[in-house]
Amino acid sequence: MAVPISAPLPEPRSVRPAEPVPAPLSADAIVTAPKVLLHDHLDGGLRPATLIDLAERIGYRSLPSGDARGLASWFAESAYSGSLERYLETFTHTLAVMQIRESLVRVASECAQDLAADGVVYAEVRFAPELHTEQDLTLDEVVQAVLDGFAAGSLAAAEGGHQIRVRALLTAMRHAARSREIAELSIAFRDRGVAGFDIAGAEAGFPPTRHLDAFEYLRRESAHFTIHAGEGFGLPSIWEAIQWCGADRLGHGVRIVDDIEVGRDGRAHLGRLAEYVRDKRIPLEMAPTSNVQTGAAQSIAEHPIGLLAELKFRVTVNTDNRLMSGCSMTSEMTALSEAFGYGWDTLQWFTVNAMKSAFLPFDERLEIIEQVIKPGYDRLRSSAVAGGTSVASVTAAGTT
Ligand SMILES: [Zn+2]
Repeated sequence: MAVPISAPLPEPRSVRPAEPVPAPLSADAIVTAPKVLLHDHLDGGLRPATLIDLAERIGYRSLPSGDARGLASWFAESAYSGSLERYLETFTHTLAVMQIRESLVRVASECAQDLAADGVVYAEVRFAPELHTEQDLTLDEVVQAVLDGFAAGSLAAAEGGHQIRVRALLTAMRHAARSREIAELSIAFRDRGVAGFDIAGAEAGFPPTRHLDAFEYLRRESAHFTIHAGEGFGLPSIWEAIQWCGADRLGHGVRIVDDIEVGRDGRAHLGRLAEYVRDKRIPLEMAPTSNVQTGAAQSIAEHPIGLLAELKFRVTVNTDNRLMSGCSMTSEMTALSEAFGYGWDTLQWFTVNAMKSAFLPFDERLEIIEQVIKPGYDRLRSSAVAGGTSVASVTAAGTT
C-alpha cells in the first residue's frame, strides 16, 4: 500500500501509483479481522436457500431458478448488466418474499448472523419499509419485525462466539413521495434500533432535492441521514445531497472523482466540491464490486477508491448487496488488497473511518475503535510479523 497514512499531505499532492506488495492478504486472514459495514441493503443480502424456502412457503413461483447455486448465479449475472436500473430489477424477487413478519424476522436474523460470521462487529443495514407493505403489514410492524430479527440474529451470533451490533437505517424510495413519512418513522424508532435515514433508487431524474422536506425535518430533529448519490449520476447529485440536503454521508459518492484532475505530473487538483467533501471529512460509502456492476467503475483495480484513499478522503468499504454482488466484507477487502496491495494498516484505516462515521453515539463508536478494532488489527499485525510477512509500522487509526 502506497499511502503513507500518518504523513502530512502537501497541496496539491503528487499521486503515485501503488507500490507492489509481495503478497496480498488472504481471505482466510481477513475474515478474522474486525470490520465495520455502513452500507448494506437487507433486501439485497438474502441467502439464496432462504429465498427459495420463503418463496415455496408463500407460493411465489417466479424465481428464475429453484436451486440455491443456480439462483445465486442468476443474481450475479443480472447484476453485471452494467445498468443501475436493471440491477434494481433483481429486487422484485427478494421483495416478493419479504411481505410478512415471519419472513422479515428470519431475513434480518440471518443477515446479522452472516455479517457476524464474516467478522463484522458493527453494521448499519438499510431497508425501505414502504416496499414491505404489499400484504397487511403496517410501516411500524415492518420496522419492528426487522429490529426483532436483528436482535435475535445478534444473540445467536454472540452465542456462537461472534459479537455484533446491528442498527437499521430506514430508506425512502427516491421515485416515490413518502420520504417525509419514512423520515418521521425513523425518528419514532430512533431509540429502538434505528440509527438513521437514507434515500435510494434510480438517481437519474430523481434528484435528492425532491425530498428536501424530509431532510429539513430530520435536521430539525438533530437526526442522521445518508443519501445515495454519485453512483448512477454525477457531481450535481453529490452537490445537491450535501449542499442542499445536508447529508452526513454519501452512499457511494464514486463520481466525486469527476471533480479531481490528475495532471501529467501526477499531481491531483481538487475542484471546490471535492475539496469540500475531503475537508469536511464527509464519509464515502463505497462498495467496489457493486460499483463495477452498475458501471460506476470499470474494474476493482480502476475503482476510484484507490485514488480517493491515496488523497485521504474519508473512504469506507461496503458490500451494498451481498446477494446480487456475490460478495462479503471479506471478499471486498480481499479484492482491494489484491488490486492495490493494501495491508493491515489500510484495512484498519478503512474500518476506523467507517466506525468514526457510524450513526452511533460518540462514546459507543470510541469504545468499538479502542476495544475491538485496534486490538484486533494489532493481533493480526503481530501474527503477520511472527509469520514473516513485513508490515508497515504506521498507525493507521491516527488519521481521519
Ligand atoms: Zn446502496
